[in-house]
Amino acid sequence: MTNLKDKVAVVTGASRGIGRAIAIDLARRGAAVVVNYKSNTAAAQEVVAAITAAGGRAVAVQADVSRMDEAHALIKAALDAFGKLDILVNNAGTTRDALLMTMSEEDWDAVINADLKSVFNCCKAAVKPMIRARSGRIINISSVVGLAGQGGQTNYAAAKAGVIGFTKSLAKELGPRNITVNAVAPGFIPTALTEVLTEEQKQAVLKMTPLGRFGKPEEVAYAVSFLASDEAAFITGTVLTVDGGLVMQ
Ligand code: NAP
Repeated sequence: MTNLKDKVAVVTGASRGIGRAIAIDLARRGAAVVVNYKSNTAAAQEVVAAITAAGGRAVAVQADVSRMDEAHALIKAALDAFGKLDILVNNAGTTRDALLMTMSEEDWDAVINADLKSVFNCCKAAVKPMIRARSGRIINISSVVGLAGQGGQTNYAAAKAGVIGFTKSLAKELGPRNITVNAVAPGFIPTALTEVLTEEQKQAVLKMTPLGRFGKPEEVAYAVSFLASDEAAFITGTVLTVDGGLVMQ
């Protein structure tokens, strides 16, 4: 098992779904984890309790990462709690689906801010301590929708495709500082985020997935833990799809 002993990680949007699984898997491998959330305090505290019950170290930190000041406060809280920052996982995200004809400016801004600007905000705050340490791992959660597009999700697809361009550009900037920056693009993983889809839409995705099933949050987490590890030291600027073969690049 990949060893992350003595590493310190921040996972945004870790109170539930994929972020929860990422926080628990990083902790299981030895990392101290900051469990970020926006509003669901009880859920975030439950994640911390699950990690500490298993012998790990974790704290919950509330911050709306779509806001620059709160993203900076989150990274400061991590440094205050654990003294350093090795791994940043930008996982927080949301959807507000609508056809372009009916999509409001507010729906557009909310998704771009939560899914793309949040990545800019947290990376801005995290790169200073990482550059000082001359090492770091940044993993951004994109989506296959950012690669292939999806009707009804122009806002989300633009944000997730933006995350990929951002990841590649930052990987070029930070390579000389020994900091890797990669993206993980999940396919369909049943969580609160996907509950809004109709049974018909879910069956259509299933039909196009060669492995013939949906993914589990833990299966995304394993990919993140690998990219966060020392073993992944020569991998940067890549997009790792975790999608049962739904979108082959
Ligand atoms: P989810 O179950 O809806 O969980 C979203 C998490 O993000 C929650 O912890 C939520 O916190 C947090 N969050 C949302 N906005 C935030 C903000 N502004 N600041 C801080 N935290 C915020 O979603 P999920 O399915 O696990 O998705 C996680 C990531 O994977 C997202 O980036 C999503 O786009 C991506 N993804 C998901 C799928 C899928 O099929 N599920 C596929 C591809 C990509 P609260 O609990 O406090 O609200």
